Amino acid sequence: MEDSKPRLVGAIDVGTGSSRFLIFNENLELKFSLKEKAHRKELGQHSPKEGWLEQDPIELLESVRLCIGGVADSLRLEGTPISSIHGVGITNQRETTILWDKLTGVPFYNAIVWSDNRTRQLADALIASTPNNNKDYLRPKCGLPIHPYFSALKIRWLIDNVEEVRIAVAGKTCLFGTVDSWIIWNLTGGISGGCHVTDVTNASRTMLMDLQTCKWDTELCSFFGIPMSILPEIRSSSEVYGHISEGPLKGIPISGCLGDQQAALVGQRCFKKGDAKNTYGTGCFLLYNTGLVPVRSSNGLLTTVAYKMGSEADVHYALEGSVAMAGQCVRWLRDNMKFFTDAQEIERLAESVHDTAGVYFVPAFSGLYAPHWQSDARGLIIGLSSYTNKGHICRATLEAVCFQSREILEAMNQDSELPLASLKVDGGMTVNKLLLQLQADLLGIPVEKEDMSETTVLGAAIAAGIGVGVWPNQLDSIPQSMAVTLFNPSIDHDNRDSRYYRWKEAVKRCMHWEG
Ligand code: ADP
Repeated sequence: MEDSKPRLVGAIDVGTGSSRFLIFNENLELKFSLKEKAHRKELGQHSPKEGWLEQDPIELLESVRLCIGGVADSLRLEGTPISSIHGVGITNQRETTILWDKLTGVPFYNAIVWSDNRTRQLADALIASTPNNNKDYLRPKCGLPIHPYFSALKIRWLIDNVEEVRIAVAGKTCLFGTVDSWIIWNLTGGISGGCHVTDVTNASRTMLMDLQTCKWDTELCSFFGIPMSILPEIRSSSEVYGHISEGPLKGIPISGCLGDQQAALVGQRCFKKGDAKNTYGTGCFLLYNTGLVPVRSSNGLLTTVAYKMGSEADVHYALEGSVAMAGQCVRWLRDNMKFFTDAQEIERLAESVHDTAGVYFVPAFSGLYAPHWQSDARGLIIGLSSYTNKGHICRATLEAVCFQSREILEAMNQDSELPLASLKVDGGMTVNKLLLQLQADLLGIPVEKEDMSETTVLGAAIAAGIGVGVWPNQLDSIPQSMAVTLFNPSIDHDNRDSRYYRWKEAVKRCMHWEG
């Protein structure tokens, strides 16, 4: 009987480091343990030039298909019908830009990843074209500074530098998408009628959407010289966009979509004004729910859409502090410096020393994001002596993530005028207990980690479930938080502040290095 089937919701996360597909039941419990490898696939990254970062759009898509296939096999093995999945949500690395041909489905170029810095000169030229040379010229409309981070600059670069793109734009066969659009278009039929859509949270990261109307804006598009014909339709974060047309999930609706940081906000159940979370993945992103009002930051934070849970639902907004390099520094120590072969080894190495012995690491690989927005800063490691060893550098790397988060938290407290009493955290790096203890120490407030670490995917599952009526009362009927582990500050105020002061000195030294 239909009613006796479990009601399940699936969610795909296409991050910068990996893709995964997870299944949740109505109580938001995971169907399969996170240890099962079939549900996760690490993604390649290519850096063809200094400051450039690309990914293969086909690899992104295939990784999703692989994870879906792995989960479908697990369901079959235990005898759960695939039709128990009522809807599928998607969450994704934001801003990353893909252009493809709607007639062939072939991308014109690799995906330009969010942290790619190739458009630095373009950003400078665009800023110079504004009255008073003002990088915040477009902020009143889109909430963002003119900066290489956002999709509009990446689209402009592709139009200017890839001839096939120019031809396709002229011939009206070019489509733009952030990773959500690319995956949804392909899974819902691709060249045979795929849905070309995005959600309001992803759209809010392009610099092309008006935050108040949540529509593409003609002035913003003309400022960047971007034809509106290539843009996807903006939809809410929770509604049926289309049905999957291939593979084991054929026929199941895609009913939720959120940028990864907004998904983590939802996954942490930060539904009230004043709720906040910090996610430690490739980068690090602190989002603060400001309710129905888009709050303008005076301290270098971004104004962004938090979620819109249904086509008729209200839009909720957030203030965001974005840090470009967090887990990516650990990956850099592993892949470029060959310090270790597995990211989790950093914890043991960092624990092998009591402190950093005065070493500070500012990982400004692609400049510094919030609150500085300096794309000409470059990374440095300072305080080295003949005593310094791998352990000190590993510990300084973890501390760098914590100091960057403190900078964001201070900006957030100033903008909101309501200091956070504790910090909810999640993301791939939060398996590292030393990192969370250092974070509590360096912030001076408790850090709360939910024991289920996949809150980003959970947020996409919540959106998808609401989109197909699994939780009919919307956010009010979402089961509340599960078990948390608390990390309390264990150092005194003077120690905390003197280390932060040294960090700020190191940050000053890396500014304008690229000139
Ligand atoms: P994303 O969603 O951006 O792809 P994840 O949330 O999956 O990222 O987190 C992966 C990041 O966490 C990687 O950059 C990796 O280097 C880092 N990471 C993984 N395990 C650890 C660990 N034990 N300690 C510190 N960093 C880690």
